[in-house]
Amino acid sequence: MSRSRPLVFGGKYAEGRRLRPTLVLNAETVWRVSQIARNGPRWFRSFGTPTEPGPRLVTIAGAVEHPGVIESAAGTPIAKLLRQASAAPYQAVSVGGLSSGFLSGPEAEQLRWESTVLMSHGCTIGSGVLRVIGAAECPVEYVAHTLEIAAGETAGQCGPCMFGVPAVASDFAAVVAGDAGRVPALRQRLGVLSGRGACHFPDGVAQHIAGALRVFGDDLDAHLAGRCVADHDWRTANAS
Ligand code: SF4
Repeated sequence: MSRSRPLVFGGKYAEGRRLRPTLVLNAETVWRVSQIARNGPRWFRSFGTPTEPGPRLVTIAGAVEHPGVIESAAGTPIAKLLRQASAAPYQAVSVGGLSSGFLSGPEAEQLRWESTVLMSHGCTIGSGVLRVIGAAECPVEYVAHTLEIAAGETAGQCGPCMFGVPAVASDFAAVVAGDAGRVPALRQRLGVLSGRGACHFPDGVAQHIAGALRVFGDDLDAHLAGRCVADHDWRTANAS
């Protein structure tokens, strides 16, 4: 019978100090370390940008024909990533999941998938997800749905997470339903959540909502006026 190999390895820093045994759970990190070990750092750095080197994984979901995980690199145009997944006509993209913001359709067409570029639009690479919001979707109902999920994600250890995230999720849902009286409460709570939470989850949710308010302001106004302006294709609108 062959001897089983250890699952957790120790090692040494370059100066010889012992490295404590480290368990790596992030699948992308394991994938990237294996590439450096197999192909060397020079090969690895030939992908991406000087500050974000190496191949990266991007998950593309939503209004696309071929959802899934794509091998790419920082600096790649977002439009190119969306074409690889055969995106349908879309109006916006959620970048980086629940802890990040949104790009409008025209922004997604012009920008590169890269931290410094995304940061200037209130987004981070975050979980590496690009969720395409199709032309026929109601974007604010989509955001209300993601916030409902966020409200159920608390581990119950921090007040801003236990109470604050469900409160802003409830405020946002009420505004989407047309209750203009909840707008001040939503804005006030967003200010309180920013920077909060031991793991910054509430802070991320605040960024998510701030991004939605930035990109979907017209849609929220329409909901407050008792209408929904979903089913608009910005590409068609721009062509006219
Ligand atoms: S903020 Fe983070 S650490 Fe605090 S309860 Fe929420 S998930 Fe847990």
